[in-house]
Amino acid sequence: VPYNLDPKQQAIRDAVKPFAEEHILPVAAEMDRQPDPPVFPKEFYQKLCDQGWPLFPMKKEYGGGGYSFIEYVTLIEELCYYDPPTCLLAAVTELASHPIEAFASEEQKGEWLPRIASGEVLPAFALTEPDAGSDAANNQLSATIDGDDFVLDGEKIFIMHGDVADLLVVFCRVREGDELERKMSVVLVEAPVDGLRRETLKHKMGMRVATTGRLWFDGVRVPRSNLLGERGKGFRYAMATLDSARVGVAAQGVGIAQRALDESIAYAKKRVAFGAPIARLQAIQWMIADMSTRLEAARALTYKAATMHDEGGRYTIEACQAKLYASETAGFCVDRAMQIHGGYGYIGEFSPIEKLFRDQRVLEIYEGTSEIQRLVIGSTLLR
Ligand SMILES: Cc1cc2nc3c(=O)[nH]c(=O)nc-3n(C[C@H](O)[C@H](O)[C@H](O)COP(=O)(O)OP(=O)(O)OC[C@H]3O[C@@H](n4cnc5c(N)ncnc54)[C@H](O)[C@@H]3O)c2cc1C
Repeated sequence: VPYNLDPKQQAIRDAVKPFAEEHILPVAAEMDRQPDPPVFPKEFYQKLCDQGWPLFPMKKEYGGGGYSFIEYVTLIEELCYYDPPTCLLAAVTELASHPIEAFASEEQKGEWLPRIASGEVLPAFALTEPDAGSDAANNQLSATIDGDDFVLDGEKIFIMHGDVADLLVVFCRVREGDELERKMSVVLVEAPVDGLRRETLKHKMGMRVATTGRLWFDGVRVPRSNLLGERGKGFRYAMATLDSARVGVAAQGVGIAQRALDESIAYAKKRVAFGAPIARLQAIQWMIADMSTRLEAARALTYKAATMHDEGGRYTIEACQAKLYASETAGFCVDRAMQIHGGYGYIGEFSPIEKLFRDQRVLEIYEGTSEIQRLVIGSTLLR
């Protein structure tokens, strides 16, 4: 049991476990193996939304759990322990809802958040473009003012659930007359809509159940009242959203690392080589020792960042440290887990390690690569 859990965190762990054992574990491998491109699991997602305890942290008045952030990261950690892409189904909705809850008008919040919380509306967070990934401020998608409308032109890529979402939180630059504003804005786009074409990306390495989309906007028209928050504040909204989302990715890493460790301990005790369980071998014990030590450090960094989020101050560095360390720790742990499992780790038919290995890798890429976390930490400290 993790050190220093408060009763609310324990209650979340106690709620997730029986649900995951009954409804997630039996289908996770099968959902991962569906033909390419994968189809977003609508029924499964609805079941997740309906199962009794709230899946999202948003305020209770909107139908969420009203969770503190430390409770939320515990939920993410637990879901990810059982199945990373199932966890992602929930985490993506929170990623896209965060800017709405934090920065939208009361009217927009009332219109969208309850329907998002119930599962009726699936949202997506559309920031990345083909030529603007790490360099997100280089966004080019334009929202041209035309009377009472914005007309959107451009392209987005790597958007989780963007292929099927009902509501897109689109980062763009407003064009008024001849001038394309330098600063980003955010516009809500209901989908499907005329002028929007979308595809599900194929041959994705892991996290296959939570689908990823590419989107082309060709004269997509939305009312100007769909502007989210203030014009020109989009980059600030994106960065604020990423601070919290990065702690969420850290929690994903902790969940994956814990699963890799638990599977490895159980396997090492039962696998016999040279007449004794491999758990007796110092080589194996050292791998277990390193995995568990890094895992504990990753969890401590993650809970620290989440606690700072709850306290309301700035926590950008702590969020980056947690995301960087926990995602790389998850990478270390799935790699060692595969080594401990030998051939039975590499073949998905025999153990969950092969899938865990594939699911983990993107944690070091999305919500800012490891290099970008190091860049933010280093440049902030040296300012
Ligand atoms: C499965 C998946 C899901 C995703 N989901 C979403 C989503 O829902 N919404 C969304 O908006 N985006 C999403 N993304 C996009 C993701 O955030 C970007 O892929 C990521 O930020 C990296 O951008 P890029 O792929 O363009 O890589 P690039 O920015 O081209 O980077 C390439 C390499 O250069 C390095 N690099 C770049 N700049 C620097 C620098 N200044 N210093 C040092 N190294 C640098 C990078 O670290 C990386 O190693 C998703 C991506 C994936 C793969």
